[in-house]
Amino acid sequence: CGIVGYIGNQEAYPILIKGLHRLEYRGYDSAGLALITDGGKKLNVYKTKGKVSDLERFSQSKDISGTIGIAHTRWATHGEPNDANAHPHYSQTENLALIHNGIIENYSVIRAELESKGYVFRSSTDTEVIVYLIEYVQKTNRVDLCTAVQLALHQVVGAYALAVIEKGNSDTIIAARKSSPLVIGIGKNEFFLASDATPIVEYTDEVVYLNDEEIAVINRNEPLKVVNLNNVTVTPEIKKLAMN
Ligand code: GLU
Repeated sequence: CGIVGYIGNQEAYPILIKGLHRLEYRGYDSAGLALITDGGKKLNVYKTKGKVSDLERFSQSKDISGTIGIAHTRWATHGEPNDANAHPHYSQTENLALIHNGIIENYSVIRAELESKGYVFRSSTDTEVIVYLIEYVQKTNRVDLCTAVQLALHQVVGAYALAVIEKGNSDTIIAARKSSPLVIGIGKNEFFLASDATPIVEYTDEVVYLNDEEIAVINRNEPLKVVNLNNVTVTPEIKKLAMN
């Protein structure tokens, strides 16, 4: 299972696919990706059970443009390996797309609560509740995406490395982790995101390893910002990788 993300001046799709291939050694049953394109107007999600090569075949005839994207390989823990359960998962309104590695232990409680408010789920994963919850928090509190992720994660029990993007905002990826690894690569006017440094080393030697309960605001026009779940700003420690 694995996570890859890209934001910068290059087309994201080839970088995401290459990154997923690099993470194949970790094992997986499904693959998928999300891209924002058309000046932010479109948030496209493509996902399928099977190999990364199946995802490539599936995406071939689709709009794969965009300079911001997130990608995922899934190792199913909750919900069988099928197309619907593959990540990314949309929020209810399809305004957000989220990928996640790990396990949400209290997902059934959150799901039942959201269902009682009229939300209709599309998958049987534990993951989908996170993105629905983020959207719910965003709507009820009228807060930005980072704050919504922060507030939502306060309600989540479990392990996660996750990334989320929002239609209408092609400048920002929000990423967070607890007990599952997540690395951010800092390039020149571009950022990379991955479960480990393998997909990043060919682009940059500067990385930040997120710590537990930290949220990264990865904005294409700004230095990397990291906050914890209590909204305290954390100074990211930039490490140097040995380049290949
Ligand atoms: N628990 C999530 C699922 O089953 C994520 C699994 C993973 O880490 O790939 O969809």
